[in-house]
Amino acid sequence: NAKGWDLTDPVEYHELDAARSKFAGDHKWIFALDDALGEKGKVQKLVNPANPKDHVGEIANATPAAVAKAVELAAKGQKAWGKKAPAERAKALRKAANLYEKHAAELFALATREAGKSLFDGVAEVREAVDFLRFYANEAERLGDQDEARGVIACISPWNFPLAIFTGQVAAALVAGNAVVAKPAEQSPLMGARAVELLHDAGVPKDALILVPGAGDIGAALTSQPGLGGVCFTGSTEVAKLIDKQLAQTAESDAMLIAETGGLNAMIVDSTALPEQAIRDILASSFQSAGQRCSALRMLYVQEDVADHVLDMLYGGLEAMQVGNPWDLATDIGPVIDAEAQKDISDYCAKLTEEGRLLKKIKAPEGGHFVEPHIFKVSGIEELEREVFGPVLHVATFKARDINKVVDAVNAIGFGLTFGLHTRMDSRVEAIGKRIKVGNFYVNRNQIGAIVGSQPFGGEGYSGTGPKAGGPNYLPRFRVAKRAHKIA
Ligand code: GLU
Repeated sequence: NAKGWDLTDPVEYHELDAARSKFAGDHKWIFALDDALGEKGKVQKLVNPANPKDHVGEIANATPAAVAKAVELAAKGQKAWGKKAPAERAKALRKAANLYEKHAAELFALATREAGKSLFDGVAEVREAVDFLRFYANEAERLGDQDEARGVIACISPWNFPLAIFTGQVAAALVAGNAVVAKPAEQSPLMGARAVELLHDAGVPKDALILVPGAGDIGAALTSQPGLGGVCFTGSTEVAKLIDKQLAQTAESDAMLIAETGGLNAMIVDSTALPEQAIRDILASSFQSAGQRCSALRMLYVQEDVADHVLDMLYGGLEAMQVGNPWDLATDIGPVIDAEAQKDISDYCAKLTEEGRLLKKIKAPEGGHFVEPHIFKVSGIEELEREVFGPVLHVATFKARDINKVVDAVNAIGFGLTFGLHTRMDSRVEAIGKRIKVGNFYVNRNQIGAIVGSQPFGGEGYSGTGPKAGGPNYLPRFRVAKRAHKIA
């Protein structure tokens, strides 16, 4: 697994802080579009979500014509790359993992300045990306070459894990012998561009991995290219549905789609739970990363008998959290990604506050894209209209005898990503584990931060198509059975 970077060790923290500070202030990341793609789009400027006056860098976006060119080049590039032995492709991924570790301080800085991530989250992000590289390298060797690659895979990734998810998609597709045309999220293209540089430096050929930065129009241009071998997408359920339709209309009939989408994740805390532990895990699950994880806790159910006590402690815990500049180690909750997200979440909170549902909120600083973290009272998950991607938690209480009804209500929403349970009763863990329909079921811990290899991550229903990322079924999806088997 990836290196430690222990932030609780003062010496290590000091070294890390000094190393990343070289990438603060006047340091800018500037990326041009690959000349081979021809027509260039507009140059996009990126700013720091915590301080929009901090200009982080710029990147030349692709155009639809450049996207078509990229897919054409990648189809050619795939021929040579796909012929290499799995061990050789795995070697490039392992080299990239070492380069990510070598450039970790820069990647931490980029995660903070471009995507608003705390140093703590930035460290987890680089670790996860490194883990994906090494895990899929091992997987490729395990699977060998009895199957063949699909061709060109379009990888479309989100801004909330601008390095980890970007790298996970790309690494799996590549090591399986495909070429990749990757579109990073329009909010975090600098990280995507830097990752691609490191992957090229590690030996992935330039025509086997091509970056096409841009907004939704570039994503749509990419997924409508004829002849794609597949699409690997992480983002909203709505966009995943559009891609599915588009693939059915334009791509080869056997183009595969892997979609990891949203969640409306719940947790149950019963009367046997340890309150201190539950509070710590509720706060981490709903407010870490400013709630901008598809795994995040949105709907907390607390058993009526213990609700007063647990909720009092929860409010106290939230009060102790600090919203602020993610560059500071003392910050618990950073900004949300941009002005649009800030407005959307704030409007939602204003609406629920007006409805008289506010239980607790804490202040956020002015000046950046900060949102005040809120806790609201609702009667149950069926009242939530959609996934609100920010530091907002909803709470309901339930009677002991109704616990199965709660689980059924969560299942009925149709998402199925993460679910948390705090209880001391083993029989309850067993029973609810059988009843709940989610990809990742977490017991007596937080429900975010799945670990590559040991905790494969992904949901069902509206939450995604599977297979789970970081698990044994992921890589095989990037390959197909050999078309002609020699039978001796
Ligand atoms: N894998 C992440 C986690 O377990 C969530 C990924 C996402 O938000 O898309 O927290």
